[in-house]
Amino acid sequence: MKEVVVIGGGAAGLFCALNIKRLVEDSANVVILERLEKVGKKILATGNGRCNYTNKNLQIKKYNNPSFVKSIFEQFDYNKTISEFNRLGIIERIDSEGRVYPSCEMASAVLDALRLECKRLGVVERCNFEVKKITKHGEEFIVENTRGVKMNADFVVVAAGGKADPVLGSNGSGYALLKPFKVHITDLYPGLVGAKFDPAQVKGLEGIRNKCEVKLYNKRNKMMIWKESGEVLFKKDGISGIVVMQMMTQVARYTACKKANHFYCALDLMPNKKDNEVLELLKERIKRLGEFPNESLFIGLFHRMVGMHLLKRSKIDLNGYIKDITTRDLQKLVSEIKNMVFEIKDSYPFEKAQVTIGGVDTSELVVETLELHAQPQMYAIGEIVDIDGECGGYNLQWAWSSAYVAANAIAHRIKVLEI
Ligand SMILES: Cc1cc2nc3c(=O)[nH]c(=O)nc-3n(C[C@H](O)[C@H](O)[C@H](O)COP(=O)(O)OP(=O)(O)OC[C@H]3O[C@@H](n4cnc5c(N)ncnc54)[C@H](O)[C@@H]3O)c2cc1C
Repeated sequence: MKEVVVIGGGAAGLFCALNIKRLVEDSANVVILERLEKVGKKILATGNGRCNYTNKNLQIKKYNNPSFVKSIFEQFDYNKTISEFNRLGIIERIDSEGRVYPSCEMASAVLDALRLECKRLGVVERCNFEVKKITKHGEEFIVENTRGVKMNADFVVVAAGGKADPVLGSNGSGYALLKPFKVHITDLYPGLVGAKFDPAQVKGLEGIRNKCEVKLYNKRNKMMIWKESGEVLFKKDGISGIVVMQMMTQVARYTACKKANHFYCALDLMPNKKDNEVLELLKERIKRLGEFPNESLFIGLFHRMVGMHLLKRSKIDLNGYIKDITTRDLQKLVSEIKNMVFEIKDSYPFEKAQVTIGGVDTSELVVETLELHAQPQMYAIGEIVDIDGECGGYNLQWAWSSAYVAANAIAHRIKVLEI
C-alpha cells in the first residue's frame, strides 16, 4: 500500500487527490493536508461566489507560458473538464462570453461535489495541518507540520497555491517547502489586481464606474503594449474592474521578464466615437447650452463627477459658462475624453489579488507529469507553478488540468511499482 500526501486542499489538491484514488483504488492511501480549518475556502470565493470553473473559448495564448500549458491541456482539456464535472454531478451553464459556471450558480456546489467524491472514494482530509517541512529519508518523505506532527509518504504533491488573497488559505508557505530541494521559484507579483495611482489623479471619482477602452503603455519608449475594453471602477487611489485586472497581469508579466518597469495607462471614455465625432458632439452642446455653467456640459454623457474631473484636467474654470469655452479648451476636452492618462504607481497588494504571477519555474518540472526534476516522486500543481491565465475561468482550468496530469502520472507509477 503506497502513501500519497497532497499538501493543500484547494481546487488543485482536491481534484488531484480524487483522481489518484479513483485510478489506484486500494493500492494507495491518499491524504489531503490543509492548513485551514476547512478545505476549499478559495473555491467558495471564485466567480463572485458562482465559481467560473472554466471557459468554452479557452485560448492558450492567454496564459503566460502557452507552450507549457498546451502540453498539459493535451492530456486534460476543456472537454475533459466538462465531462469530469458532469461525472461529479455538476452541469455547466455557459454565459455569452464562454465563461462556465455550475448550473445552480453556486460555488459551494463545486466544492461540495469535489468533497463528496473524495469522501466516496476514501480520500482522507486532515485540516488544521500546516506543513512546515518536507524531508527525504531513503525512499520515504517525511512531511511535518508546524506542531511537529509527522507523516510518511511515498509520493508528495505540493498544491499549496500562491500568495494571492491569503485569508483564503494560500499564504505563500508552499514556496518554502520546496527550498530544501533547490527548486527555482521565479519572482512573485500580484496578478489580476487593481492599479494604484497617485490619489490626486482620481480625486472625487471614487465609486464611479465607466465603460472605457483601456490602453497600457511602456513609459520608457511610450509604446502601447496592450489594450482592451470593459468597465473601470474608480477607487480612492486607483482603478479596478476586470479589464484593469487583466491590464495589471500584463504589467506583472512585463516586469517579471524585465521587458518594462514603468507604465502608464490611458482611458478612452468614448471608445465608440472618433475624436472628430466627440468634437462635433461637444460643439453642438456648446451651441445649445451656452447660458449654463460649465459643469452642465457633460449632463447625460458622463457621471457628474467625471464631467467635473474632465474640466479640471483641461484647466477650464468650473465657475465659468459654456459659451466661453474656447476652441483650445474644446481640443483639450476631446483629448482628455479620448485619452485620459494615468501614471501607474504600483499594483494593489497580494491581499487584493486573485492570482500570483510567478512561482515554481516550469523548467523544474517534467512537462508530461509535473514531477520535479530535482526530486522524483514529488510534484507541483496549481497556482504554485509559474503559470497564470486571464480572468474568466483560466486559472481554475489550470488547477484542474495540472492536477489531473500529476494524478495520472502518480497512479501510473503506483501501478508499475505494484507489478
Ligand atoms: C477572490 C478570487 C476569485 C477568483 N475567481 C476565479 C474564477 O472565477 N475563475 C478562475 O478560474 N479563477 C479564479 N480565481 C483564481 C483561482 O481561484 C486560483 O487560481 C485557484 O483556486 C488556485 O488553486 P490551487 O488549488 O492551486 O490553490 P488554492 O486554491 O490557493 O489552494 C491552496 C490550498 O493550500 C493550502 N495551503 C497553503 N499552504 C499550506 C501548507 N503549508 N500546508 C497545508 N496547506 C496549505 C491553502 O490553505 C489552500 O487551501 C479567483 C481567485 C480569487 C482570490
